[in-house]
Amino acid sequence: MTKLLQSIWLATTILFCLLGGLSLWSTHNSSTMAHQEALERENQLRAELLKRSIAPLFEPMAQAVAQYPAVPSRRLESPAGQALLSAIDDNTPDESDISVALYDANGKILFSNHTYKIDKTLESPAFDQAIGGSASNHIDQFTTADTEGEQREQTWVVSYLPLPEEALPFAAISLERNHTQLLAALAQKNHRALMTEGLAFIAFYVALMLSLSVILRNFRRSEARHRNLEQKLQEHTFYDQVTGLPNRQNFIERLEYLFKSSAEGSLNGPFAVLLTDLDSFKVINESLGHQAGNQLLKSVGHRLNRCVGPNDLVARMGGDEYGLIIENIDDVTEAIQTAKNIHEQFQEPYMIQGHRVSESISIGVAISQGQNQTAEELIRDADIAMSRAKQNGRGHYELFNVEMHQEAVNRIELENSIRHGLERREFFNRYHPIIDVESGLTVSAEALVRWNHPERGELAPNHFIPLAEEIGLVKPLDQQVLDKALADLCVWKKHFPEHSGLTVNVNHSAQHFHGRPSLEVILNSLEAHSLRGRDLKLELTESSILKNDLVASALFGELRKMGVHLCMDDFGTGFSSLSYLHKLSFDMLKIDMSFVAEMLYSDEARKIVHSIIEMGNHLGLGVTAEGVETQEQLDILKSMGCRYAQGYLFSKPLLAEEIPDFIQKRIDAQSKTAENLA
Ligand code: C2E
Ligand code: MG
Ligand code: MG
Repeated sequence: MTKLLQSIWLATTILFCLLGGLSLWSTHNSSTMAHQEALERENQLRAELLKRSIAPLFEPMAQAVAQYPAVPSRRLESPAGQALLSAIDDNTPDESDISVALYDANGKILFSNHTYKIDKTLESPAFDQAIGGSASNHIDQFTTADTEGEQREQTWVVSYLPLPEEALPFAAISLERNHTQLLAALAQKNHRALMTEGLAFIAFYVALMLSLSVILRNFRRSEARHRNLEQKLQEHTFYDQVTGLPNRQNFIERLEYLFKSSAEGSLNGPFAVLLTDLDSFKVINESLGHQAGNQLLKSVGHRLNRCVGPNDLVARMGGDEYGLIIENIDDVTEAIQTAKNIHEQFQEPYMIQGHRVSESISIGVAISQGQNQTAEELIRDADIAMSRAKQNGRGHYELFNVEMHQEAVNRIELENSIRHGLERREFFNRYHPIIDVESGLTVSAEALVRWNHPERGELAPNHFIPLAEEIGLVKPLDQQVLDKALADLCVWKKHFPEHSGLTVNVNHSAQHFHGRPSLEVILNSLEAHSLRGRDLKLELTESSILKNDLVASALFGELRKMGVHLCMDDFGTGFSSLSYLHKLSFDMLKIDMSFVAEMLYSDEARKIVHSIIEMGNHLGLGVTAEGVETQEQLDILKSMGCRYAQGYLFSKPLLAEEIPDFIQKRIDAQSKTAENLA
């Protein structure tokens, strides 16, 4: 655009100069011509008047010419000559510098008020025209030298008039008037006018150019602003503002270009996409602040750039995720080598705001598979591999394979069906009775969720609970379980009004500790079924408590106030100790079934179970042994002082409606034993 404007400016300047010059020149020229024409016309008029005035003197003068054919001065001195001279003087009173001449038909001057001209012959087209019968004028310009020898330009206006036959031998008369000064004055005036016009033109041109330059400057400025804005927009669209690296959009476009080049055959080898995710960025960001987080993101970008070649690309995909495109790789090992290089780079801690920060990175690697693939699919594959790498622990890499894809697809399908299952209430509870080892009576029943899957039938929790926890759906699921469990407990209690201590155990996922909504939900649920806190026992796993220590202790305090009993599930499988049980005010613990199972074959397991029971009893916790399958196990547990037991020995998890029957059978069995003993 600027170039176009510059060209227009240049063209306008040239055009203006040409037009201006031409117009000034033509004005000047036409005014000079007009002046000359006016002078010629005026001179001709004066010549006419003079001719008429001196016409009566032609005849005496002709006689004088005839009388003195060879002596021009005598002609002038003759009375006729003198009379003619004074007549000429009389008719040209204001003129000092004039020349009047009478010619014969051949152009010879027979009379002139200037003696030196007499008898000279004139050869001029103007004169020829006069001889031809019509008046003619012309401007005569010549140079003369003055007395001091200086050259002077002279301009005379000459008019030739034809004379009638009766004037013979005179055939024509001329009147010459010196207009040097007048024309010089006129020329000067013209010159001044020309100068003024020129100056006005220049002033106009300068003003025009100034305005143009202002317009141009403003235009340039706005164009620069526009360019700047465009550049910024471009940077925003294609570059990450924190790290200055290409962004996700840029990354995708580059990948699309590679796929296109590959399809056109202009790319040789395959290419790889590496997706990376920082393992503890969130912690650093939260503990050291956002600025430190940004600094870390930048430094990570630098390190990643060190691991790739000049044609490769490192982009920030968002958050703490980076994407790398490695072009023209020979085989998979090259991409894996890059992943290893990245891990090597991450060995060294980062210095962030004076802190040594150790960061590890998980990497998913995917290799382009040819034309039937899209950029999006390759990124998705790398993402699946990265999730797998993350599952394997910190600082791992994984190469994508087809099974991973299938797993990911299955996972997505499962996610959707869990959602639908919740909406369609496909989940239901089974109950696993908890038996008082001494009396053999049922003290509680643990709600164990099942999924009545439309295609796969009844599914155990290990098929869906971990995923439900991951995608945040375990809360609504647990709520459904809790609600149903309390509703079922009400029914059982009605069956056994004398059995007021009957409770229900409900498993509680770790997710409930993010925020604190479960307290309200539990309270509402209890209220809705007119139950008290003590009718409910919540089972929590060690690992979930460990992760959420502080939140848990606050929540547990509230729950205890409500009378809800807390039960540590799967005790011994995590890292926690009995001190945790005490600190977090648990009421019960459940020994993990793996110890119970091993107890028969391993002395060590038996010792562990024994110590757990002893310490549990010492701390006043009700100890339950899970997974009791044989009478032998039960006998050992009993001898160790274990209070409650749960397992297939008594029953497999039952449907809600089967529980009253089970309770009744246990009561009957206990009565029978009592009778027998009596
Ligand atoms: P858990 O709470 O420790 O439940 C005990 C698991 O052991 C149950 O498996 C039960 O069926 C099984 N079991 C009990 N006695 C025996 C036995 O004698 N032999 C054998 N082989 N197994 C026995 P299930 O129902 O598959 O539940 C597995 C886990 O899923 C549960 O472990 C619990 O952590 C979780 N879970 C179950 N229901 C829920 C729920 O509603 N919400 C949450 N968040 N988790 C649940
Ligand atoms: Mg449990
Ligand atoms: Mg358990």
